[in-house]
Amino acid sequence: MFVDTHCHLNIIAPKQPLEPLQERHFPAIDAAIEEARAADVTTIINVGTDLIESEASIMIAQRYPDVFATVGVHPTDCNDLPKSTHDTMVALRRFVADKERNKIVAIGEIGLDFYHKPYEEQKQKDYCRAQIELALAHNLPVVIHVREAADAMLELLKEYATQGLRGVLHCFQQQQYVADQVCAWGLFVGLDAPINYPKNAWMRDVFKNIPLEHIVLETDAPFLPPQKLRGKPNRPAYIPLIAQELADIKELDVAVIEEQTTANAIKLFNLDI
Ligand SMILES: [Zn+2]
Repeated sequence: MFVDTHCHLNIIAPKQPLEPLQERHFPAIDAAIEEARAADVTTIINVGTDLIESEASIMIAQRYPDVFATVGVHPTDCNDLPKSTHDTMVALRRFVADKERNKIVAIGEIGLDFYHKPYEEQKQKDYCRAQIELALAHNLPVVIHVREAADAMLELLKEYATQGLRGVLHCFQQQQYVADQVCAWGLFVGLDAPINYPKNAWMRDVFKNIPLEHIVLETDAPFLPPQKLRGKPNRPAYIPLIAQELADIKELDVAVIEEQTTANAIKLFNLDI
């Protein structure tokens, strides 16, 4: 059995951004989950990106036994938020206060993104720090998004790595030194379908060197489809394709990849499955 550790079923649903999830959106989610189960992807972590999508994430987790939720504010969603993190953190704390019933297994996605412009570096850092501190206070891991901000992210994480921070650098597309550092801190890295895009030979080299005990599989669906399905929406059912890519890179049997990455996901998110 496989775990998709990073999926956006709420975005697979045919709804507009900022539109709350409603009953009529669920058939598309039902179909994606059914298809995943048929591919032996029996657990899905659905990731929040802002307050509305975090609430949608909780609704989806409460509806399906094999889905869990994360709540958080993505760095590119910080632009529209006030300078002070106060109100957002009040809302996130309210979700987390009932984390068992809300099936919340992590805070995320949070992080730094200096690729999408314009961005406010200080604001992103303030939101990132506040959410890491929320995760630490509730003994939850963090799901971290980093784009063109690796050094700033390492600098920020350094403070918390010694305080027992757990988490994953999701959709990991960074250089070897970043992988080495986050693994040394006991963090995980998330592997997605771009590992087999033709231009990404450098990524295959990096992943060859990352210990399997630090890798979890994720689709980021509906984004980042596998090469042979590019142009189409991604689905959690495609996790076995990513597992096969990693098996090829590491010259291991895919069953070994399946077993270890599932064990890693259970450990990272403290899953009761
Ligand atoms: Zn994502």
